[in-house]
Amino acid sequence: MSEQTAFRIHQDDQGHRAGVERIATPTPREGEVLLRVSHSSVNYKDALAGAGRGKVIKRFPITGGIDAAGQVEQSRHPCWKAGDAVIATGFGMAFDHDGGYAETLCVPGDWLAKMPDGLDPRQAMILGTAGFTAALAVHRLLVNGQHPGLGPILVTGASGGVGCLAIAILAQLGFEVVGVSGKADLHDWLTQLGASRLIGRDELPGGDRPLEKAIWGGAVDNVGGPMLARITRTVVTYGNIASIGLAGGSDLETTVMPFILRGISLLGCHSVEIPFPLRAELWRHLASDWRPADLDSLVSDEIDLNALPATFDRMLAGETHGRILVRPG
Ligand code: NDP
Repeated sequence: MSEQTAFRIHQDDQGHRAGVERIATPTPREGEVLLRVSHSSVNYKDALAGAGRGKVIKRFPITGGIDAAGQVEQSRHPCWKAGDAVIATGFGMAFDHDGGYAETLCVPGDWLAKMPDGLDPRQAMILGTAGFTAALAVHRLLVNGQHPGLGPILVTGASGGVGCLAIAILAQLGFEVVGVSGKADLHDWLTQLGASRLIGRDELPGGDRPLEKAIWGGAVDNVGGPMLARITRTVVTYGNIASIGLAGGSDLETTVMPFILRGISLLGCHSVEIPFPLRAELWRHLASDWRPADLDSLVSDEIDLNALPATFDRMLAGETHGRILVRPG
């Protein structure tokens, strides 16, 4: 029986523990594909799962990692053959099925997206779930009528994985982008990515009245809580807010006034179960017309499996920025 190295997460009588272990290399069943993972990445959900915070895993023990990119080694699915370059994000990965923090990944072939022309596995993981989710948010904004003429788009959690990618994509599409970031030392970097202006987390204009002065054409929100509530009160008539995350809290205390008196829309973004063909379309955009000009400038760290626990702690403490690549091999 062949073995591989994987980052395993346990939750049992002894409580939570996670670390690098040797486990059996999986064998694909009917409909499944085995791929050699060349790159994975660290997303906020990976940090929650790896640190034993939040209820983000359904089955234990499990291999962590909601992202993976690599090459098909064995296929028992009609759409894939050995040698195909593929991307796996979301679905059951690191939820009720082993994820991408291992040398190989065995998943249903239906979960895979073809590597689009113009991306290699490393570049695909610079984007990863963060880039895919940013693209989903942009897609939802555009479908709901967002255009640069409505005014600047606010991006919260700007220095994070989703935030920095949303800034880069929106700037590429001609939007004026204003970032909200708690990291003043990264303002130059975020400006280079495409933000026209940065404001601190405590500097968001507007108060607590049901409607405040309308400033933002729309927003991409990774933070939730009071920050999202304030944004709902300050978006212009028929502007849109893409709601992605909860880095600052899961509560939302607002009123119906922005919805019924300004017609604003709060657009939910759930990247995990995006069906085809939208999944393929978003990856095509990310590889071409929405592709950030300098993907490498988004990478803040490149680590192996042993460095994951310390990285999770830093991410949950809000001390990371940009994209962190993982080399499982
Ligand atoms: P990151 O940790 O990379 O980014 C989060 C950013 O939020 C931080 O960099 C920081 O930016 C800001 N932040 C952190 N803590 C706080 C706080 N207490 N108050 C205000 N701002 C804070 O995470 P990701 O980019 O991977 O994910 C962002 C959010 O989106 C997470 O909540 C994640 O769960 C969610 N998500 C949801 C998905 C979906 O399908 N809906 C998919 C992917 C992610 P700064 O210092 O610049 O302010």
